[in-house]
Amino acid sequence: MSTEIITLMVWGEDFEQELRPLIKAFYPGAQFQVTKETWDGCPVKDAASFLRILKEQDAPWDYAFLLYPQEGYFAARGKEGWQAGEFHHIPANAQRRDYRNVMMRGFYRMLQERSERVLPWGILTGIRPTKLMLEHIEAGESESEVRAYMEEEYLCSKEKIDVGIEVAKREHKILSSIDCAAGYSVYIGIPFCPSTCYYCSFTSFPVGVYGGLMDDYLAALEKEIRYAGDALPEKQLHTLYIGGGTPTTLSEKQLDRLLTCIEENFDLSHLKEFTVEAGRPDSITKEKLAVIRSHKAGRISINPQTMKQETLNLIGRRHTVEQIEETFYLARELGFDNINMDLILGLAKETPQDVAKTLEKIGKLSPDNLTVHTLAVKRAARLTTNKEEYEGLEAKDVQKMQRFSSEFAAANNYYPYYLYRQKNITENLENIGYARPGREGLYNILIMEEKQTILALGAGATTKFVFHNKNQLERVENVKNLKDYIGRIDEMIARKQNFLARFGREL
Ligand code: SF4
Repeated sequence: MSTEIITLMVWGEDFEQELRPLIKAFYPGAQFQVTKETWDGCPVKDAASFLRILKEQDAPWDYAFLLYPQEGYFAARGKEGWQAGEFHHIPANAQRRDYRNVMMRGFYRMLQERSERVLPWGILTGIRPTKLMLEHIEAGESESEVRAYMEEEYLCSKEKIDVGIEVAKREHKILSSIDCAAGYSVYIGIPFCPSTCYYCSFTSFPVGVYGGLMDDYLAALEKEIRYAGDALPEKQLHTLYIGGGTPTTLSEKQLDRLLTCIEENFDLSHLKEFTVEAGRPDSITKEKLAVIRSHKAGRISINPQTMKQETLNLIGRRHTVEQIEETFYLARELGFDNINMDLILGLAKETPQDVAKTLEKIGKLSPDNLTVHTLAVKRAARLTTNKEEYEGLEAKDVQKMQRFSSEFAAANNYYPYYLYRQKNITENLENIGYARPGREGLYNILIMEEKQTILALGAGATTKFVFHNKNQLERVENVKNLKDYIGRIDEMIARKQNFLARFGREL
C-alpha cells in the first residue's frame, strides 16, 4: 500500500505547530509536507480555485489542507471526485487563543467527518493535558466546571477527562503540601546503555563503543555537580533524579564515586525523594544495588518494557525475562521498598493478549509504581531510520492494551498520578504513571507540571528555570554529544552561571 501524502498550505507561520500534529493524528503514517505562502489575500475562494492552487504547487498530494488565518479561512480537499472544499469563517476580532481553538475545533470536525475517526484527546495536541486541568483546579474551579471546559473547549472524550481529572486532583493534593518555589530539583544524566533499543531517541551511547569515555564523562559531570551544589543557595534541594541512558552501566566503583560527589556537594537535609533509574536488568548487579542503597537513594526503577522474550529480542534489549524477575527480587532483598517498573504498549508485533500476560507477571512482582508508556516513534529512533528492518511489525489495537493496563492498575491498588503525551504517540494516546498510595514519584509531577526549577546536569540535559511570579519557564541546554560535553564542560557551566547572574533573583 502506498503512503498517503498530505499537503498543508499555511499563510506565514501561524498555527502550523498546532495543525500539523492534529492532522497527523487523523492520518498516522501519512507523508506530510507543509508549504508556507505569503499570498496577498487568500486566493482560495471555492473548490475550483483550491484545485488551481494545488496544481500550481506541482507537488503530489492525496489530501490537501489550507489555512489562511488573516481571512479566517480553512479548507480541505480529498481526491474523491474533487468535491467542494469546506470553508468556515472565524470572527475577525477574536483573540489568538480563542481564535486558535475555534479554528482547531472547526478543523477537527472537518477531519473527523472525512476520516470517520475520533481523537480521544480532541484538539489537545500538547504534551501536558493535566497541566491545563491542574491550572483550573488551582484557580478554584469545581470539578464539573473543569469537565465542561475540557469537553466544550477541547472536545476531549469523557474517558480522558476522567483520568485527567483524577491525576490533576491527586497532583494538586501532593503539591499543596510542598512549597515548590522555595525548592529546586536536580536531574543527572548518565547517557550510556548496554545496547540501543529500537525506539530510543534519548541521549544514549552504547557502552561497547563509548565505554572508554566513561571516566572522562564522570570527571566532567563531577565538575558540573560541584558548580550546581552552590548554584541556588537560597533554595532547598527537594528531589534528585539520576536517569539516562542507564545509570547502572557505570561500574560499582564509578557509581560510588558519582553518589559520593553528590553527597559532598549538595545539602541533602531537605531532600524528599532520591531516585536512581537503574533501568536495564542487564546492567544491574547486587553490588551496584548495594552501593545505591548505601547512598540513601530510596527509589529505583527497573524497566522491563515487556515480559515477552520475543519482543525483548526484537527491540534490541539483550536480557531475559528471568533477569528482570531476578533483579527485582534482588532489589527487594536489599530493602528497596519503592520500585518503579516501566512498560511500553505498542511494541513490535505485540497483541493485547501479550500485554495481559506481561501485566500478570508484573502483578506477581508487585512493584510500587508502574509507568505505562505508549510507543512514540521519534525521528532519531532506529525504528524510523531503519524503517525497512521493522516493516510489518506494527502492534495493533493499542487502545485495548491501554484498557487492560488501566483495569490492571485499578484491580491492584495503583492510582494514576501523572500523565503526559509525546509527539507521534501511537493512536494519539498518552503515558500514565501509576503508584500505590504514598509511593508517587514527586520528581515526575514536578517536571511534568513544570512546578519547580530543575537543574539538569550531563550530556543532553536541559535545565528548566521556573519563574514562579510570572508563570514562565526558561530552558538552558547542555550539548548532546559526549565528546563535546566533556571538552566544553566549562561552557556548559557558564551557560547556567550567566543565566542565573541575569535572572537568578527573579526565580
Ligand atoms: S534503555 Fe532507554 S536510553 Fe537506553 S537505549 Fe533503551 S530506550 Fe534508549
